[in-house]
Amino acid sequence: MHDDRTTPQGRCGCHRGICRLESGDPRHGTVNGYTNLGCGCVPCRAAHSVKCLERRVARSAGPIPDRVHGTPGGYGNYRCTCGDCRRAWAKDTGERAKRRRERLASLAGTVSGKASKKDR
Ligand SMILES: [Zn+2]
Ligand SMILES: [Zn+2]
Ligand SMILES: [Zn+2]
Repeated sequence: MHDDRTTPQGRCGCHRGICRLESGDPRHGTVNGYTNLGCGCVPCRAAHSVKCLERRVARSAGPIPDRVHGTPGGYGNYRCTCGDCRRAWAKDTGERAKRRRERLASLAGTVSGKASKKDR
């Protein structure tokens, strides 16, 4: 192996258990380093999040497919602010909150029910 840089070779210092890179590997700071080689060091994570951001920007910059209008995804994923999308998003958010409240209420009911049974 030819390496004339002074970077010390050794295990990469990142905390990602699946990392297969050594420190000084030129693939640090690339999406490849993060996605395929499992590295979680700061430059690799940064490269990955930039890629994610680019993808998200590209998606939101592109034309919004007709089928997503009037669905929660139109507003949630494509940032469409047309009336249909906003209504669908508001409805979905409201329903999700309601479902969560109901689940929490039923959970609280079972927990307190069990507790009071145990008491007796
Ligand atoms: Zn890395
Ligand atoms: Zn690493
Ligand atoms: Zn829309």
